[in-house]
Amino acid sequence: ERWIVSSPETAAVTGEAGAADVPGRDEDLDALTRRLDRQVLHSWSAQASLDPLVIAGGAGSRVWDHAGRTLLDLSSQLVNTNLGHQHPAVVAGIKAQADVLTTAAPANAVLVRGRAAQAVLRHAPEGFAKVFFTNAGADANENAIRMARLVTGRDKVVSHYRSYHGNTGAAIVATGDWRRMPNEYARGHVHVFGPYLYRSEFWATSPQEESERALRHLRRTIEAEGPGTIAAILLESIPGTAGVLVPPPGYLAGVGALAREHGIVLILDEVMAGFGRAGDWFAHTADGVAADLVTFAKGVNSGYVPAGGVLVSEPIAAAFDDRVFPGGLTYSGHPLAMASIVATIEAMEREGIVEHAAAIGADVLGPGLAALAERHGVVGEVRGRGVFWAVELVADRTTREPLPASAMGALKKDLVARGVLPMVAENRLHVVPPCVITPDEAREGLAIIDDALAAL
Ligand code: PLP
Repeated sequence: ERWIVSSPETAAVTGEAGAADVPGRDEDLDALTRRLDRQVLHSWSAQASLDPLVIAGGAGSRVWDHAGRTLLDLSSQLVNTNLGHQHPAVVAGIKAQADVLTTAAPANAVLVRGRAAQAVLRHAPEGFAKVFFTNAGADANENAIRMARLVTGRDKVVSHYRSYHGNTGAAIVATGDWRRMPNEYARGHVHVFGPYLYRSEFWATSPQEESERALRHLRRTIEAEGPGTIAAILLESIPGTAGVLVPPPGYLAGVGALAREHGIVLILDEVMAGFGRAGDWFAHTADGVAADLVTFAKGVNSGYVPAGGVLVSEPIAAAFDDRVFPGGLTYSGHPLAMASIVATIEAMEREGIVEHAAAIGADVLGPGLAALAERHGVVGEVRGRGVFWAVELVADRTTREPLPASAMGALKKDLVARGVLPMVAENRLHVVPPCVITPDEAREGLAIIDDALAAL
């Protein structure tokens, strides 16, 4: 049976979410939280214009403040809470590990670390031998890039302009969107345009044409840079924050073939797309492509404790049999993170969470969002699968001019007022609830979006 709590009231009655976290309907505590929050320097934000929501607790697909105002979380926080908030089995798993061993250096053998590797490898595509554990998605990509450079003896990394790979040294340079921050220490990063039929860089008019032309562009770039200089191609299986750009058929398989032809390591970034989000354990498995390294984080443990990792293929793992892999941090493979991974994956298996996410996408969110596109002229395109959707909003359907930031800001505010915690990126509303969202909750979210689009 799936674990679902739909409101703080239910949680309080059933005790499922831990009574201590259930709000006491305390406006003063909200005010105190806001006051204390001023001492936090928030990430990715101009501090003066900040007006952050108070989040006091959560359960399943909902969060609430101290005063008991509840929001349906259609953001999964940063698209990571795949198993929903406060899953009791994961909280219990972390607590149980805390009673036994809360820290251990990465070089020691620790039972829970081996069990976490086993749990991840149970769902890995064929050919993966080992897991390198990290603290998050960014350092998973850092280490994957380092492995690729060491095994190939080459420098360059090719990635998409429309991408996000994390906010650390090489990962932020590999990132291609507005957040890319070139820095003098990161060498050899090359960007290409990936497929995006709605705003095609290639004048394509069909998914097949878009795929073929994007692959041609990639091939030409590799040839121009010199294949012998390229260590890795690093791509998100489904570019996420760039707009849930599900690649057209044949694209990822074509990238895989190009990488193999030139001895380039293919790194697929599944940090956002993996672990149920796209309705599969790993989003690329349906694309007929075999990666050499796969990076993951977020959904692997729903973010209950910082964790991430790299799936390492047999040949690359073997390359470090007699040679040091110079990667790792004090907290790599942290016992609490490992316990949360084991508990998360076991809960996902037991409760059929991945299958549930696929069904929610196919039966509720997909058709529901398509219906919204028919009703509202402001919707330019709807893309996605599973619980991984983007609604692209336009000022004009013919010119596809993006809806301006002011309107997107108003929409975001209105959605919160109507009881939804949304994720808004540029001119897109991302509909990315936890995988555990029930059909009724998904319909409730769709109805609120419908009303908000009508008001817009
Ligand atoms: N890769 C992808 C595809 C992501 O979406 C993200 C974060 O949003 C990252 C990497 C970075 O992960 P983290 O923020 O855990 O370092």
